[in-house]
Amino acid sequence: MKFRVVLFSMALPLLMLAADPAGGVDAASMNKSVNPCVDFYQYACGNWIKANPLPADRSRWGRFGELQQHNENVELDIIQGAAVSRPNRNAIDQKIGDAYSACMDTAAINQRGIAPVQPLMDEIRAMKNSSDVTREVANLHKRSISVLFTFGAGPDAKDSTKMIANVGQGGLSLPDRDYYLKTDAKSVEIRQHYVEHIANMFVLAGVPREQATAGAQLVLDMETMLAKASADRVSMRDPNKRYHIMTKQELETLTPDFGWETYFKIIGAPEFHTLNVSNVDYFKQLEATLPGTSIEMWKAYLGFHVLRTYANLLPETFQNESFAFWQHYLTGVPQERPRQYRCVSMVDRSLGDLVGQKYIEQTFGPDAKAQITSLVENLEKALGQDIKTLDWMTDETKKAALAKLAAITNNVGYPRKWRDYGKVEIARNDYFGNSERLAEFQRERQISKIGTPTDKSEWSMTTPTVNAFYSPQQNSINFPAGILQPPFFDPRRDMAVNYGGVGAVIGHEMTHGFDDQGRKYDGDGNLRDWWTAKDGAEFEKRAACIANEYSSFSPIEGVNLNGRLTLGENSADNGGLRVAYLALEDALKGKKDVVDGMTPEQRFFVGFAQVWCENTRPEEARSRAMTDPHSPGQFRVNGTVQNMPEFQKAYSCKAGDPMVSANACRVW
Ligand SMILES: [Zn+2]
Repeated sequence: MKFRVVLFSMALPLLMLAADPAGGVDAASMNKSVNPCVDFYQYACGNWIKANPLPADRSRWGRFGELQQHNENVELDIIQGAAVSRPNRNAIDQKIGDAYSACMDTAAINQRGIAPVQPLMDEIRAMKNSSDVTREVANLHKRSISVLFTFGAGPDAKDSTKMIANVGQGGLSLPDRDYYLKTDAKSVEIRQHYVEHIANMFVLAGVPREQATAGAQLVLDMETMLAKASADRVSMRDPNKRYHIMTKQELETLTPDFGWETYFKIIGAPEFHTLNVSNVDYFKQLEATLPGTSIEMWKAYLGFHVLRTYANLLPETFQNESFAFWQHYLTGVPQERPRQYRCVSMVDRSLGDLVGQKYIEQTFGPDAKAQITSLVENLEKALGQDIKTLDWMTDETKKAALAKLAAITNNVGYPRKWRDYGKVEIARNDYFGNSERLAEFQRERQISKIGTPTDKSEWSMTTPTVNAFYSPQQNSINFPAGILQPPFFDPRRDMAVNYGGVGAVIGHEMTHGFDDQGRKYDGDGNLRDWWTAKDGAEFEKRAACIANEYSSFSPIEGVNLNGRLTLGENSADNGGLRVAYLALEDALKGKKDVVDGMTPEQRFFVGFAQVWCENTRPEEARSRAMTDPHSPGQFRVNGTVQNMPEFQKAYSCKAGDPMVSANACRVW
């Protein structure tokens, strides 16, 4: 099937509107009573925002969410078809169909009660000493239950061809370390609710209320200790601060109380000699504080993490309690998503490359791939042009930057190789067992990479995902088929709108290779400083302008964005939009048709902005301001266009207008 067939079979009227071949921008979503030079986001998105209040089961709802919902309906069709019991189903249908059926079978899940986790809970309850703790931490990690620290495989930052072992900070439950450490009234209230939630989970697991309440406090105490030892998000963004190669012996010396050899053995790590300890200080601090902790504290902490991770695999009482705290209280969502979609997203998360293969057959034709590939090439040319003409960079660094740009690998639609899940057994009547086997499979697959050559073609997103990514160590930009649809892209649509939509996304991912993190890696994906000292300082000066700009934005009263946390994404937005603009100007070759009363440049900017129309609950906005490296849609639009003279020219904005920054920032 060709790409466009699915566009017409879509249930969502809004997307059909966007797919209208005569159409360009989505005029119905605009609020033309707003002056574009005053608030461009409201101008481009005002009517969409009014017409699309938050659905009851969403904490945030925007164009990404709409398209993701559409993709999930396509996946639901595929998976439900695969689930129909019939002789001679192929292996893909058996796995995705039965994984889904098992997830939907709430009667069986409720009937089994807490029995599936009981053996693990009993083991934890029987712990007596620190070697028992080591063993249980390893047992939990094997099941992908995140406690105490993280352990896995990743490319060596300074030799991206090699996969090495990594240990890092981890084991918190709340969204960020600051949730444990801040003393304002809201943070205190969140912790009180959190302790109540932990106690409720213990009670559901059969612990008497009084003991559950005491245990809940121990969990909070333990996690607060881990939070204090953890570095904040901004400092963890610096790849140089995350790179400390040590021998196993040095790690043992750092934390002599933790039996690393036992841990590596239980978890099944292949033999290795050195590893990366991403935050050495974290382990130093644990060594100073953890030996004083009681075995009761460990029992409470590990026990809660089992219940928390498995809540969705247990009877509905656990799911409801989990929803009440994590979604309803923390993000403001009144209602849980319908179970069928939760099961679809479970299948997508755990067997994504199987659903992905079938998804591609239905939705992504060679035409779309060819068009996107040529768009990517145009954008690359534009970024090259942009680098060559920068006035703040010396020729020496420009040469290195152009070499890195030329080395970027472009992956469009789907990965070159589909993941093989051959060994995992999926049973139609065993939701818990399936999930455990899948978690162990992923874990084993991950860990077995230690000491092997890096597979640079591997993807970190499934193909139906509405997103894209740049991988600094692969030096690749990757565009899943899921995002290559309206409102981002339509092969028959006005070119200016495509450049503003998917063009800006492509530019964004490319610019990540040159943002404050990406610039520290070379074209081979190695952490290596290829900048002259002067150019590095010039870059940092310009990046600081962007950091300051976004720190001044406030998504909800009393909360500001963190310009340092969002610096990479904001730099990518700014650079990406400029590069897409340059590519459009090149492609227009001077042909400036006016459509719907708009010049191509105006349609380009509206096309860009309309990707970001959204509504967000205040709870979610607060949480994201602390944790999300991306800015909210409003600032992704207004924060970017106010830096661009090209935008101001397109709308004849004057100095002093809110969309004309007096201190316009520009890196790329
Ligand atoms: Zn990004």
